[in-house]
Amino acid sequence: MTSSTRPFLNRRLAEFGTTIFAEMSALALRTGSINLGQGFPDTDGPEEVREAAVRALRDGRGNQYPPGPGVPELRTAIAAHQQRWYGLSYDPDAEVLVTAGATEAIAASLLALLEPGDEVIALEPYYDSYAACIAMAGGTRVPVTLRPHEGSFRLDLDELRAAVTDRTRLLLLNTPHNPTGAVLTRAELAAVAELAVERDLLVVTDEVYEHLVFDDAEHLPLAGFPGMRDRTVTIGSAGKTFSFTGWKVGWVTASPPLVAAVRSAKQFLTYVSSGPFQYAVAEALALPDAYFTAFREDMLAKRDLLAAGLKDAGFDVFRTAGTYFVTTDIRPLGESDGFAFCRALPERAGVVAIPNAVFYDHREAGAPFVRFAFCKRAEVLAEAVQRLKTLA
Ligand code: PMP
Ligand code: GLN
Repeated sequence: MTSSTRPFLNRRLAEFGTTIFAEMSALALRTGSINLGQGFPDTDGPEEVREAAVRALRDGRGNQYPPGPGVPELRTAIAAHQQRWYGLSYDPDAEVLVTAGATEAIAASLLALLEPGDEVIALEPYYDSYAACIAMAGGTRVPVTLRPHEGSFRLDLDELRAAVTDRTRLLLLNTPHNPTGAVLTRAELAAVAELAVERDLLVVTDEVYEHLVFDDAEHLPLAGFPGMRDRTVTIGSAGKTFSFTGWKVGWVTASPPLVAAVRSAKQFLTYVSSGPFQYAVAEALALPDAYFTAFREDMLAKRDLLAAGLKDAGFDVFRTAGTYFVTTDIRPLGESDGFAFCRALPERAGVVAIPNAVFYDHREAGAPFVRFAFCKRAEVLAEAVQRLKTLA
C-alpha cells in the first residue's frame, strides 16, 4: 500500500497500510475461494462455553463496564490455568490483566514499556501487529531471522546474542510461532532466558498457541525459566484455545509492577471489553483435561491432512510443531515470489493463502514461503487440497 493512497496516515504507520489478513479474507470472499489465509476456525468452540456466554448476558453479568483489570472470576481462572499447566503462581489481583484479545495485550505492553528509540528484538517472520505496535510506541524493531534447518525454522542463538545492543529494551518472543509453526525448545528458551538476565532485558512473550503443540513438542512458558518470572510479560488468548476468535478475550500475566505498567496503557486503549464473554472464558479455562486433549488431537489430524495434501500438490512442507499453520516453500512448483503466487492463487486454484514475506523486514528471506491455515473442517481441507493439486 503506498502512502499516496493514504494521504492522512502519519509517518509512523505509513508502511503498514491494510493488514494482510483483511486483504486476503476480502479476496477469498470476492472470488468465492476457500480461505486458508486468516487463521480462524470455521467451527465454534464448545457448546457449554457458548451457553455460559448466553447465561452471563441474560443474567446481566458483564453487560455494563466490567472492572478495568477484568472480572475477578476470569482473573482467578487465568491464575489457576497458569498453575495447573505450568506450576506458575500468579496473584489474580496484582499479576493478571484481562485485555481485548492478545492484540491489545501486545499493544499495551509495547506502549507501556518502550521509550522512543528503544530497540525491540523480534523473531522474524513476526506476527504483523508487532511491527505496527513497536512503531506506534516509537521503538525500533530489530528482527532476528528464523531460518530453515532440517525441515523446520530455527532460531540462531548467536544471531540473537549479536542483535542485543545497549539500546535493546525488550525481546518480543512468540512460541508456538506464527507463521512458521516452530516451537522453541527447552534449550533455546534457556539460552534466551540467560541472555535476558545477562543483558537485563524485559521479555514480552506471545503464547496464544500454547495448547496447540504436536508430536513431541512441548510448550514451556519463558516465565518459568530462572530469572524470568519478574522480567517477563506473558500473553495468552481465549480465541485460539477455545475457538472463539471473535470474542477477543486475552490476558497478561506478569509481576505486579509490569502488570501495573501495562494496565496504565490498556486503560486508555479500550478501558475494558467483552464483559459477558469474560465470564464464559472463566468457565472455559476450567474445562477438564479431556477438552484440551481432544482439541489438540483434532487439530493434529487437520495438520496431517493439510500437510500431506500440500506435499502431494508439489509444495515443500515445513514441519509444524505448533500453531494452526503450515508454512510451505513454493519453489518446487517453479515459483519464487510468494506475494505474486498468493495474489494469483484464487484465480488459479480457488484457494487463499498468506505470503510469509509480509512478516519480514528482509523480504527476500521470506519470498518463497507461503502459509496455509488448517483450523478448518476436514472436508474443507480435503477440497482445498484437491484444488491445489491442479497446480502441478
Ligand atoms: N499473536 C499471534 C501470534 C497471533 O497469531 C494472533 C492472532 N491469531 C494474535 C496474537 C492475536 O490474538 P487475539 O485474536 O487474541 O487478539
Ligand atoms: N492471527 C491470525 C492469523 O495469523 C489473524 C488475526 C487477525 O486477522 N488479526 O492469521
